[in-house]
Amino acid sequence: MAGTRDERISLRTRNDKWQKVPLRIEMSECINCDACLRHCPPHFGAIFNHGADVIIIPELCSGCDKCLPACPVDCIYPDPEWQSTAVPADWWDEPLSPEDPYR
Ligand code: SF4
Ligand code: SF4
Repeated sequence: MAGTRDERISLRTRNDKWQKVPLRIEMSECINCDACLRHCPPHFGAIFNHGADVIIIPELCSGCDKCLPACPVDCIYPDPEWQSTAVPADWWDEPLSPEDPYR
């Protein structure tokens, strides 16, 4: 079921009870201000700095929308196609790393 963040990270899967689609950041519009990252609840902990990018790992994103009002340029969008575009494998280096902001 992946009910905890640690389980979702271990299994690389969403909680199957989540009804809403995850969100994604349009990198061509993002100004890397990190405001969204600070508004993602730690029990989800889905947003990371990854090199020069700010990313949302969809398997960790419940679609709670708490990050949306934080974004000054409105570049966070629903991602209904997330399953067909697997995230780059190196995105998974971020959760539980020393730089994980939600640890
Ligand atoms: S929708 Fe919620 S869980 Fe997903 S990235 Fe935004 S704040 Fe985090
Ligand atoms: S709040 Fe918006 S502009 Fe700032 S880092 Fe997040 S997605 Fe990018």
